[in-house]
Amino acid sequence: MEYEAVIGLETHVQLRTETKMWCSCRNEYGSDPNTNVCPVCLGFPGALPVANEKAMELTVLTGLLLNCRIPDRAQFERKNYFYPDSAKNYQITQLALPSTVDGFVEFEMGDELRRVRINRAHLEEDVGKSFHFDGESGVDFNRGGVPLLEIVTEPDITSADMAYEYLTSLKAILEHGGISDCDMEKGMVRCDINVSVRPVGSTTLGEKVEIKNMNSFSGVRRALLHEIPRQIEAVRRGEKIRQETRRWDDTAGITETMRTKEDAHDYRYFPCPDLMPFIVRPDWLESVKSRVVELPLARKRRLIEDYGISAGDADVFVNDVPLGQYFQDVVAESSTRNPKNVANWIVNTLRGAMTEKEVSLDGLKFSRRHFIDLLGLVESGKISRNAGLEVFNAMFETGAAPADIVDQKGLAQVSDSGALEAMCDEAIAANPRSVEDFRNGKAAALNFLKGQVMRLSKGKANPAVVGGILEKKIMSL
Ligand code: ADP
Ligand code: ZN
Ligand code: MG
Repeated sequence: MEYEAVIGLETHVQLRTETKMWCSCRNEYGSDPNTNVCPVCLGFPGALPVANEKAMELTVLTGLLLNCRIPDRAQFERKNYFYPDSAKNYQITQLALPSTVDGFVEFEMGDELRRVRINRAHLEEDVGKSFHFDGESGVDFNRGGVPLLEIVTEPDITSADMAYEYLTSLKAILEHGGISDCDMEKGMVRCDINVSVRPVGSTTLGEKVEIKNMNSFSGVRRALLHEIPRQIEAVRRGEKIRQETRRWDDTAGITETMRTKEDAHDYRYFPCPDLMPFIVRPDWLESVKSRVVELPLARKRRLIEDYGISAGDADVFVNDVPLGQYFQDVVAESSTRNPKNVANWIVNTLRGAMTEKEVSLDGLKFSRRHFIDLLGLVESGKISRNAGLEVFNAMFETGAAPADIVDQKGLAQVSDSGALEAMCDEAIAANPRSVEDFRNGKAAALNFLKGQVMRLSKGKANPAVVGGILEKKIMSL
């Protein structure tokens, strides 16, 4: 029997706010341990929470970007559990009445449009972070109380690749909307997997396994590539999959049992007595709606349509927002009639160098004006494409102006026809066989002659001009 995977993802995202969810402590990564803490986020008795309005806005804005419905009333519950990383011994979250429900995310996989339904995106708070040293442990509560959005999909995902594409699109949406910086290395996005298998054609869901501890989207993909066959093989052997939580071991590339259903927590949820329900007023909702931005998929299509660039380049610009802006600025500020070529320079040459040298756009030594000037030199034929790459590399290293580099290195192409004609005459005189071949219709012979002229000019001749001169001269021999 053939089996298929059924996957639902729960993604936690830290919201980009100045302060924490219920107090005025800074929401900041990398401060000294336990410096961004106060009686509220440490759960001292009697300390009262005050909602962060910006976090409420970002939550609703996320809902709108994910095509969700925004109920006019949301409620906060306490989720009770005892664990060292939670000073309060409960987490404030939304269970019965979340801020946003019933949406979807659309993205492309190859040529196909895929849709994953969103069950809900609800607001909660992050917990502290445990550190383990030799023989002792410590907890840093700076992260405790940071606003955290949990985005839960319906079980609509069917493969490891689709899970990866969904997460990539979700991240792009959240970045575009200014919801979160989504810095994976700083743990700003974390994802848990729910996965089951069932016979192809079956409409009932199999028993699901939850997997935790992936620290990247590719980790999610790898965990699924391991877990799906593991479950299918188990079922084929006649075993029953039992509901459990498994831990992904990235180094070993396996999942292993963490806890079974029997030792699942009872969180004893109850409405938080310190917090009023959150009522969504129509005028407030309108003001949030006015901040909805273009979705990445729509932006991709517009980039392709407006600039004639490839889908691959458009993807790069959508997934790397600052680079996409750089592209649009360069096109807008230059006189180029060839945005496709600009995209090519930015995606291949510029991005390639930035990746290799680990430099960000902010860290470039040369200005955008210099980059535009360089493209102009190549496009107008003043320097060859190869010389352009040489100039780019020098400019990347030193920040010097392209025109100065061209002068300094003597890279200007010779387009002056007097000088070129003399060289063409020389090449024609020295290669009568090729001249004859070309006259007899062998087009490749012209390339050989062109090569000879390029050599005579030490690579500085403008090849297009040379081709024209040679052809004219040979045909009138
Ligand atoms: P729980 O009650 O265990 O939290 P939920 O119904 O809230 O489960 O779903 C949690 C996540 O698991 C959602 O993303 C959902 O799509 C997914 N999910 C639910 N049932 C299954 C299943 N049988 N197989 C795969 N994923 C599932
Ligand atoms: Zn605090
Ligand atoms: Mg649930």
